[in-house]
Amino acid sequence: MTKYIFITGGVVSSLGKGIIAASLGRLLRARGFSVINQKFDPYINVDPGTMSPFQHGEVFVTDDGAETDLDLGHYERFTDTNLGKYNNVTSGSVYQHVIEKERRGDYLGGTVQVIPHITNEIKARIIAATKQFKPDFQLIEIGGTIGDIESLPFIEAIRQFKSEIGIGNAVSIHCTLLPYLPTSGELKTKPSQHSVSVLRSYGIQPEILVCRTTKPIPKTEKEKLALFCSVAKEAVLECRDMKSIYEVPLAMEEQNMAGVVLKMLQVQDRKADLEAWKRLVNNIKNPKNTITVAIAGKYTKLSDAYISVVESLKHAGYADDVKVDIKWINSEDCVDYKACKDLMKDVSAVVVPGGFGIRGIEGKLNVIRYARENNIPFLGLCLGMQCAVIEYARNVLGLKDANSKEFDENSPAPVIDLMLEQKNVQGYGGTMRLGAYECILKKGSVAYKAYGKEKISERHRHRYEVNNEYIKALSDAGLVFSGMSPDGMLAEIIELPKLNWFVASQFHPEFKSRPDRPHPLFKGLIDAAIKLKK
Ligand code: GLN
Repeated sequence: MTKYIFITGGVVSSLGKGIIAASLGRLLRARGFSVINQKFDPYINVDPGTMSPFQHGEVFVTDDGAETDLDLGHYERFTDTNLGKYNNVTSGSVYQHVIEKERRGDYLGGTVQVIPHITNEIKARIIAATKQFKPDFQLIEIGGTIGDIESLPFIEAIRQFKSEIGIGNAVSIHCTLLPYLPTSGELKTKPSQHSVSVLRSYGIQPEILVCRTTKPIPKTEKEKLALFCSVAKEAVLECRDMKSIYEVPLAMEEQNMAGVVLKMLQVQDRKADLEAWKRLVNNIKNPKNTITVAIAGKYTKLSDAYISVVESLKHAGYADDVKVDIKWINSEDCVDYKACKDLMKDVSAVVVPGGFGIRGIEGKLNVIRYARENNIPFLGLCLGMQCAVIEYARNVLGLKDANSKEFDENSPAPVIDLMLEQKNVQGYGGTMRLGAYECILKKGSVAYKAYGKEKISERHRHRYEVNNEYIKALSDAGLVFSGMSPDGMLAEIIELPKLNWFVASQFHPEFKSRPDRPHPLFKGLIDAAIKLKK
């Protein structure tokens, strides 16, 4: 039977609940248990797919094509488990479903209410994920901060769920902040006490506290928290700021977090195999070299907008004992080619990531041209690949007006065009080509060598594609189409095999990289950059 672990946050937002949930997942996985994580997001959007990356950070895409919160990326990377559409639940999707049922007449004339209809739907989402994965443990993180109006139905659903499922089958972990007052030289526990008392007023007594802090928590303060919050002393855990998020599982293991959780859930503890993870953290902490890799995009002010790309670059570095320093280049600053050259001078490799809309495109084209002409390792992702095709068409093939129809509907040379199945699509939510699709690699190509196999599966999120009418001309001009959809109709990977590393994909490889198993395309980029630096 699946056991449930609920994770809430108090005092402030941005406590890193997602990392804590993912870390506990790792610790349970290290004990041989199966684990899934689930995220409840209290906002009204049906999913984050329509939100600006500036507001919400990256949209993480699952194999089954769900557009989800970026925490799912952390969950997948920490627990090495592929998640899906049931693993992210928003208020918007819950209400949408309940209202659809009401319109169909499913409620037979009844008054539809937050309790029980909304809370029942939330509980049904918990069970839907359980049924799909049948995990030993299901870790459910509730977004937002205790006291927020919008998360109340989720909290109430948990309260009901916990009491229905019975003692020993569910626990609550509350993450809080202990602020440090330099004037008195103390860590303060009062905000945490208040936050727990608010949680209690909703009917939830947390069994475990995870306290974010910049300083070690003195024994006396731990005891105080235990006493005032009715939590066992061993269940007051400290979570200090770490240099790398991948250190968090080990820090929590030192405090026996998984052991405490298992005891409360009446499950026999097992020996944890964390050797590989320790080696990983050791590599992270002791790099032999550093390289600078540029990410040239337009959401560079918020690094969360590209979090999976950043993590994938780091993962590739870990495997080579190399620290990857990211240089953020705002593509709008590269519209002037001279300025672009200056910005690119000191980088060992460059990634042009995904994105939408025309802003910053000319700058991206300059970055790609610079990388191609100066043989700087380059990786293009989705929009990054589309830009690489446009750049090649303009500057090598000589089609001066080459463009994507996304940026110029009347382009005389639309080398990137709307996909056929996208032509009649209406509305923005969930309507792109989404999720995992297979791709066949050309034998002997750079991509083929990187993956070491012919058939791959990668995740997508786009409306536009390379216009097949231009593939022959582009190929004749030297651009290699090394990955195609199984029916040969969609270009998935392009490359310039004569350069050190010039590869771009229509899909998003960054969603499948793992800290201990870097993605072949990122590994290829970093390997090429290191070789060049040597
Ligand atoms: N805007 C492009 C498209 O829709 C690329 C999307 C992306 O980079 N995810 O095809």
